Parts: sequence; C-alpha cells; structure tokens
Amino acid sequence: MAPSRPASSGTTSGRADRARPAVGVLALQGAFQAHQQTLEQLGAATRQVRTPADLAEVDALVLPGGESTTMSRLLDTAKLFEPLASRLDEGMPVFGTCAGMILLAREVLDGRPDQRGFGVIDIAVRRNGYGRQIDSFEHEVVVQGLDTPFHVVFIRAPKVERVGADVEVLAEHDGVPVLARQGGVLVASFHPELTDDRRLHAMFLDMVHTSAAPAA
Ligand code: GLN
Repeated sequence: MAPSRPASSGTTSGRADRARPAVGVLALQGAFQAHQQTLEQLGAATRQVRTPADLAEVDALVLPGGESTTMSRLLDTAKLFEPLASRLDEGMPVFGTCAGMILLAREVLDGRPDQRGFGVIDIAVRRNGYGRQIDSFEHEVVVQGLDTPFHVVFIRAPKVERVGADVEVLAEHDGVPVLARQGGVLVASFHPELTDDRRLHAMFLDMVHTSAAPAA
C-alpha cells in the first residue's frame, strides 16, 4: 500500500483496533460529508476513503448518494473498484444510500452500459425509477426495529423492482422496498444523512460492531 498517503481527515483508528472499528465514507463524489458527520456524532471513528490505502484502513464503508455513473467511473480511475469488490466479497459491512444502493445492487435497470457495480445485494433497482419529473419528495416510513416512523428524503431515487429471497425488507413506501438488508449489506433508496435522525446510521454501526466482535 502507498506509504506516502497524506494525512486525511477524521482518522482515529485503523483495522487493528477492534474495540473501535473505523468506518469509511467513500469520498469520491456526492453527499459523503453529511454521512461522516452523522457517524461522528454517534461516536464512530471515521475516515474519508479516496485511495486503496484509505480503504485498507477501514472496517466498514458507507457509499453515499450522488451519481452512480460518475462514482463508478471515479472508482475505476482511483483504482478502488477491484480492492473494494474484494473487501465486499470478504464480508466488510457496507451501507449504500441512493447512488450507493445502485452500486451495491445485483441488477441495475436503466443504467449506463459502461456503469459497473458490486452486485452484493440481490435486488434489481431502476435508476431514477420514481420518474425524472419528480426530482425529490419526502415521506414518513415505518422501519422495522424503530418505534416511530423515519422521515425519508428521496432525490432522483432508484426504485427497487425485485428483491431476492435472502433480502430482508426493513421499510417500504407505497409497497416498494426503500430500505433493505442482506447480511452485512444495508441499502436505502433515500438519504438518511439529510435529516437529523441518526437511527439508521446507528443501525449500521450495530451491524459493524457485531461483525467486528471477536468470535465467542
Ligand atoms: N439518480 C442517481 C444515480 O443514478 C442517484 C441519485 C442520488 O444518489 N441522489 O446515481
């Protein structure tokens, strides 16, 4: 790994420190800062991930919203695509929101032909599936495991069109899944980082701690 990595922001622990796992936020493009802030407010050690060396230092990763086609291209130019694909295959916990969900989905409809993804959650998503005319909308949804509804913000959101048998749907809007989980992969078609409600990030941190805990 590159030894000359410049000191990057928000680094407080590495992969060796199991008591306090480092949560990376992919910081190539998009809404990564709000995610990092929310995670920090919850007491997590965070790191912005832009290089393979950054990735090697984290125990979990958030893929933010933004533009999945651009992020796919930037992952290639940053030489991050292959190392990230291997970390995901090894089971590193990951939380993808909006464009991040698209990057994690097994099947992408209306994607650009050259757009690449990781295929680690068995769902099919349609890019901009709520219609381009509805750029953004907000709603309250009931989330499994939370005792009050969660306010969700959709921005040119992907629409889930198929969910595999191993995928747990944690929230729906109008009968369409908007929050789902398969093992260590959590995806949301909306932007939880744009509200003050930190409960979904807390849910992800629980997943991270469970996966980092030493085997009994
Ligand atoms: N429509 C975007 C895409 O295809 C996702 C929008 C978002 O992340 N807010 O990547």
